[in-house]
Amino acid sequence: MSYPLPILVQTPAHSQVGGPLSWLSEQTLAPGTLVRVPLGKRETLGIVWPVATPPAPVPDPVRLRPITDALTALTPLTPAWCQLVDFAASYYQRAAGEVALAALPPQLRELGSEQLARRLKRQAAAPAPSATEQAPTLTPEQQAVMAQIEAQAGPFLLFGATGSGKTEVYLRCVQQLLAREPEAQALVMVPEINLTPQLEERFAARFGAEAVVSLHSGMTNPQRLKSWLAAHSGAARIVLGTRMAVFASMPALKLIVVDEEHDPSYKQQEGARYSARDLAIYRGKLENAKVILGSATPSLESWHHSRPEAEGGRYVRLHMPSRVGDGGALPLVRRVDMNHQPKHAVFSPPLLQAITERIARGEQCMVFLNRRGYAPVLHCSDCDWKSECPHCSAYRVFHKIDRTLRCHHCGFTERVPRACPSCGSPDIRPMGRGTEKLEEHLAELLAEVRRPDGSPVRIVRIDADTTKLKGELEAQLAQVHSGDVDVLVGTQMIAKGHDFRRITLVAAANPDSALFSSDFRAPERLFSLLMQAAGRAGRDAGISAQSEMWVQTQHPTHPLYDNLKKHDYPGFAAQQLKEREQAGLPPFSFQALVRAEARTQETAQAFLNAASALGTEDAVALNVTLYPAVPMSVQRVANVERAQMLIESPSRAALQRFLAGWHDTLHTVRQGPEGKGLIRWAVDVDPLAI
Ligand code: ADP
Ligand code: ZN
Ligand code: ZN
Repeated sequence: MSYPLPILVQTPAHSQVGGPLSWLSEQTLAPGTLVRVPLGKRETLGIVWPVATPPAPVPDPVRLRPITDALTALTPLTPAWCQLVDFAASYYQRAAGEVALAALPPQLRELGSEQLARRLKRQAAAPAPSATEQAPTLTPEQQAVMAQIEAQAGPFLLFGATGSGKTEVYLRCVQQLLAREPEAQALVMVPEINLTPQLEERFAARFGAEAVVSLHSGMTNPQRLKSWLAAHSGAARIVLGTRMAVFASMPALKLIVVDEEHDPSYKQQEGARYSARDLAIYRGKLENAKVILGSATPSLESWHHSRPEAEGGRYVRLHMPSRVGDGGALPLVRRVDMNHQPKHAVFSPPLLQAITERIARGEQCMVFLNRRGYAPVLHCSDCDWKSECPHCSAYRVFHKIDRTLRCHHCGFTERVPRACPSCGSPDIRPMGRGTEKLEEHLAELLAEVRRPDGSPVRIVRIDADTTKLKGELEAQLAQVHSGDVDVLVGTQMIAKGHDFRRITLVAAANPDSALFSSDFRAPERLFSLLMQAAGRAGRDAGISAQSEMWVQTQHPTHPLYDNLKKHDYPGFAAQQLKEREQAGLPPFSFQALVRAEARTQETAQAFLNAASALGTEDAVALNVTLYPAVPMSVQRVANVERAQMLIESPSRAALQRFLAGWHDTLHTVRQGPEGKGLIRWAVDVDPLAI
């Protein structure tokens, strides 16, 4: 007797096959079992998928093909895991097969049942957990927060200043959980791969290296498989990872921590565009696991969800305002009004003076600017030529170090021309300023300054250009930590998370552009970046009394800087939320974007507008607004034209219902005349950049 089994496989992104397909098996296999099945001429990994009605034996299995292998040595994935995948696929408008298979370690796709069995045997022979460090006594704030987490179901938003001891709270929650429940597992997520080693060290020191595994995209395939298997078998009690870890198979999951929950990296920006933070909340509810979101500058969404219960709040807000330790005061914020500084000054005289004094005292400074490269454009003063990218609607950036013009969108690189390519004039100059030029300029300004031992100033730049090679970032960070560097120059990369103990001055060279961006989330991101950066200063209690955050601005009275000065996140959030409410923007409305790419802008827009026309009736009935198709802000990348269409509704459920019904329409239009010439399209639910 043969049984037809519903099996999920990876189907091409837009094949319109959303759910499982059928194969035959000699035996019934539990849902969640991994199998290998023939698909066309290939063999591929599949998952026996739970469906409402169990399959009946088929009398005449003529058309169905049999599975090739069942990986029964592996415990089936849990029903909850399958449900998480189903939910993510339906919420984010992707095929369940794509989401499920992307969530498994790539190497699993290559293993047969025998190889896997051997692998599992090897894995089982792990040594016993190693020794653990002593935990510190909790501060009163930490104790109060722990008591609330213990007493309530959550989800929790832990709103704690940088250095207030949030990580210690996570460690302690995990510790209590593991002590109380012999099987329980905890998932701890961080936004960036380069923050995982720090965290891994702290968790390994506390719980022993054997209890902890990491899951992130920087690992090799064998490492990922090993971690995944350890989590899946329950041997790993703690999984640390980036956004992809939200899909880790953890059969006894009881606690989920999302650290720096405001960070945009939790949103996957290609393929299935999911928010790991939002899925963590869903998964916690589904599996009855406690969820803790932590941040010094929560996302406005989470802040809004954690308003008082009486006002509709769904998260429990917990507050830790003080830094740990005696001298742990927050840095003094100083605004420099650039309108009253020498014209074209990049570093105002008072900031330069302050930096000089710190260097003379043997302290460190950090200066950041949100633009890498030397100058954003090369410009001809005779004919007004600018270094446009021939393939994108963007300028190529001047990189002085290798004398190239490089497009940051498509990567197109050329040597800097000697004369203007348009009129031949030799008078071509860099316009504007990136980190590379900032570093050069600062070195000139500080050339005469001496360190306490009489030696010259040492400046180091950290950005995507200086850290391309593996290990470079770590090496540069180590230099900063060991005190070999006096001034650190870089992009926002240096403002995040790193614990620089000896930095007593942080300066934002030119942060104003975000105040007037067309992206309504730009002020939120700027505020959080500046707060994080300020949090880098004065981590060392001994010297933090003098630590300062400098902001050079043309708009010193802007409310954002006012709130920054007071370290007043709640004040900033209240003001922003009021604006968002008046404008009907998230979190007071819900959005989705459909993006389309084609050789011409007309083709891309025609597809969107045709799909929109067919959806209008439903949209009106559901109180969903369909906006007209428009070019994306960077309209052309690598010779591909890009358009987008915004869909908005005051109700998340209505938006979801509309998208679900509209899904087939998009596929139909894609097949029809308006889909001709379209290269690709995708839906982005809860987009972060509009
Ligand atoms: P956050 O995650 O909020 O930035 P951390 O948890 O990293 O803060 O704590 C900041 C510093 O204070 C760390 O060096 C940590 O070891 C230390 N720390 C945290 N809690 C305590 C405590 N209860 N007693 C002593 N030191 C602590
Ligand atoms: Zn010219
Ligand atoms: Zn380009």
